[in-house]
Amino acid sequence: TPGIRPLVAGNWKMNGTSASLDELRAIGDGFMRGLDAQTEALICVPATLLARAAEILARTPVRAGGEDCHPKESGAHTGDISAEMLKDAGASHVIIGHSERRTDHGEDDATVRAKAEAAWRAGLVAVVCIGETNAQRQAGETLDVLSRQIDGSVPDSATAANTIVAYEPVWAIGTGLTPTADDVAEAHAHIRARLVDKLGEGAKGMRILYGGSVKPSNAVELLGVDNVDGALVGGASLKAADFLGIAVAY
Ligand code: PEP
Repeated sequence: TPGIRPLVAGNWKMNGTSASLDELRAIGDGFMRGLDAQTEALICVPATLLARAAEILARTPVRAGGEDCHPKESGAHTGDISAEMLKDAGASHVIIGHSERRTDHGEDDATVRAKAEAAWRAGLVAVVCIGETNAQRQAGETLDVLSRQIDGSVPDSATAANTIVAYEPVWAIGTGLTPTADDVAEAHAHIRARLVDKLGEGAKGMRILYGGSVKPSNAVELLGVDNVDGALVGGASLKAADFLGIAVAY
């Protein structure tokens, strides 16, 4: 989208131990070499690695992020991690409402909205994920599902500065399947229009990422689609060569 600097974001999910930090160093080094000055980069890592990841990436253009946060700032929530804790560990962004959170942890739109507001409260940018299941696509409900998720998951006070929307068709995540460029164009145009309806003209500058089986081999096609302002990359963000190979698509 004209005027929007693309963002290539990684999501390590429940992957990575100390040994994986070498890949992170290689990603940081790649961007240090000016590999892609056009593109902003972010790697969201498990909370166990966040502080070390942020330290490794501190002198690079790549930012570190969290993968989820609790809506509250602190309290009796054993095992949970607040947005303030992520910020303290060095995060700049946090993924909210990933389909795996929605499925594995029963997160609904209201929970996702509360988590986005928690992210802002802590000074983090919220990366809010939406996307239809295969059954919803087969039933022709894709655009309705996206509208409903935007209405429910994106707070009314979201701005281009504090929120990024990631379109991730659930059936394309980790499957090697991707929508056609035309399908991506239709979904992203719809998301843009709905965001502008809901949030006003400022949403014309909000980043809308595509996520779901993005790889170096399909990045040029997928990221070249209108209203695609970057990628959210799962599997291919675990290897520096793949992630850097996607970043150069711009
Ligand atoms: C994701 O989990 O956000 C994702 C897009 O995964 P993958 O790239 O592995 O499909």
